[in-house]
Amino acid sequence: MPFLPWWERYAGLLQSEISWLQDLGIACRIDETKRDDHQTLTMELSVPETVTGTAPLELTAVFPDFYPLVPPKVFAVDLGMPHHWNPFSNEVCLLGTPSEEWGTNGSLAQLLKDQLPAALKAGMSGDEHADWNEKPQAEPFGAYYNSYANSAMVFVDGSWTLPREAVQGPIEVRLDGPFPGPELTQRMLGGVLRVGSDTGQAHATLENQIQELLGGQLIHGRWSRLSTPVAVDDARAIWEAAEKADSSSTPDQPYGRRKIQIRGVVFPEESGPRQVSEGWLFVLRVRGEQRQNYSKKPRSGRSRPLMVSGGADEYHLLRAGRVGRSDIRARVPDLGPLATKKVALVGAGAIGSAVAVHLGRAGVGHLSLIDADVLEPGNLVRHTATLEGVGFLKAVAVARLVRMAAPYTEVMYNPAYVGGSRPHGEPDPLRQISQDLESYDLLIDASADRGTQRILALVAREVDVPYLSLEATNGAWGGLVAYIGRDSPWCQSCLEWFRYDQTIPDPAHSPSPYTQPIGCAQPTFTGAAFDLEEVSLQAARTASARLTSDDQGAKSGFDVAVLKLRDEAGERTLPTWTGYNLGRHPRCAGHS
Ligand SMILES: [Zn+2]
Repeated sequence: MPFLPWWERYAGLLQSEISWLQDLGIACRIDETKRDDHQTLTMELSVPETVTGTAPLELTAVFPDFYPLVPPKVFAVDLGMPHHWNPFSNEVCLLGTPSEEWGTNGSLAQLLKDQLPAALKAGMSGDEHADWNEKPQAEPFGAYYNSYANSAMVFVDGSWTLPREAVQGPIEVRLDGPFPGPELTQRMLGGVLRVGSDTGQAHATLENQIQELLGGQLIHGRWSRLSTPVAVDDARAIWEAAEKADSSSTPDQPYGRRKIQIRGVVFPEESGPRQVSEGWLFVLRVRGEQRQNYSKKPRSGRSRPLMVSGGADEYHLLRAGRVGRSDIRARVPDLGPLATKKVALVGAGAIGSAVAVHLGRAGVGHLSLIDADVLEPGNLVRHTATLEGVGFLKAVAVARLVRMAAPYTEVMYNPAYVGGSRPHGEPDPLRQISQDLESYDLLIDASADRGTQRILALVAREVDVPYLSLEATNGAWGGLVAYIGRDSPWCQSCLEWFRYDQTIPDPAHSPSPYTQPIGCAQPTFTGAAFDLEEVSLQAARTASARLTSDDQGAKSGFDVAVLKLRDEAGERTLPTWTGYNLGRHPRCAGHS
């Protein structure tokens, strides 16, 4: 069935749009040449000064194929506004967040009447906000370029500020991967290791954690500062502008079978509403292949090159990826205090692996993972690791994941059997680990093993480190998260008593037996990742809430939280958490 164009699906709407425009004195003409191929509709408009508020203006309006679910776009050639106007596409920005500010009962006429005069006034002025209710939103110029190479990025740090007087110098770039091309699944990834000056100073360097992640080859290039961004959306034009701004040349360097050069360009770019910081982009020049033309009739038996000619150089515009600490943490501003926290996690299985990755992403400074198990293919259905980690120790597989997800989190692993899970009854390595544990801010126990929980809770209390445990029930029908702080009046043994006397009810659990996959030494509980992870999520929330609240025993949340995913009949329910705050249990003998 053909998809109806909007002007047929909404009968009469196009006529109404035209008459509403005419009511405002706007002359309009549908560009029929553009109507056949697309389901978009293009209109040329002559907007009088009674609508623009300034001079009359010729506009092009494009109604998208899914109009009026999303707003029309408006373009003006040669407007030259410093704000609210895309210098490449010529689009005039009338709505800050189009999807939110546009209602489906809107019209082009109404949009122009309400937004155009203020957009033009604010766009032309250098004043902050002018008198329009401008969205507090940056319009970074680098985002206007369309000619970026596919699947290619060069890392910089958004917190870099080069000295104002610095205008050019050498850069060291690590570059890895094939040259950009149409193949989207092959990526060229690089990073600027060092932004230098011609007198040998370093203005900026990437942090070690990022440098260590970069593979490939070291390339020496040049950077230069442009006073305005290049207003041509073309890699070669940007290269030429950079070359013109820099008195030094950059050498050809071998990369694969070709020779390349790289230039970085720094230019002023909006980073906040009418705030300017330094934008970066990079141009890679791949030198033309040297072709040798052979003479067709060799005179002396062997063909000889008659002449050597070069193919044309190729230019690739590489986008900058901001990978600094502040760039990575910009989306989780509340979690800043986690950066100085050290967390030890016992159990890198299904529920523990998810906690580790969530805490890494949240910005925990240091994570130690303790687990002696090996990651099996059968674990993948509910483990955060992927096939890439199979065959490694779970602790190692998760450490690798965290490093890739959270490069500024220091991750260590310890292949120790701790707690109740030692196979041969040897002494618990926890005795050694516990000395080190004193420097930690939190011990998380994802062993989900009753004996291990008793041991770890005891050790945590003795070394005065808060203890957080999490467990899921068979079938992943429910789970439990418990937090015992430094000054907690109750202990792990109290918790067992509270569970025994049903002050804390047993989380729902499947009555079915454990399953023992072929080749597996122990039966294991059943349950899907999306249910188990509900427990991990709550543990990660509790950990980050406790770690970011002040250490003086400030309460955040509950001591114990019990999850219910199924009702008594085993039917799925919405996830329900019930919180409990505890005191000392009268029958607990663990208190003097
Ligand atoms: Zn107790």
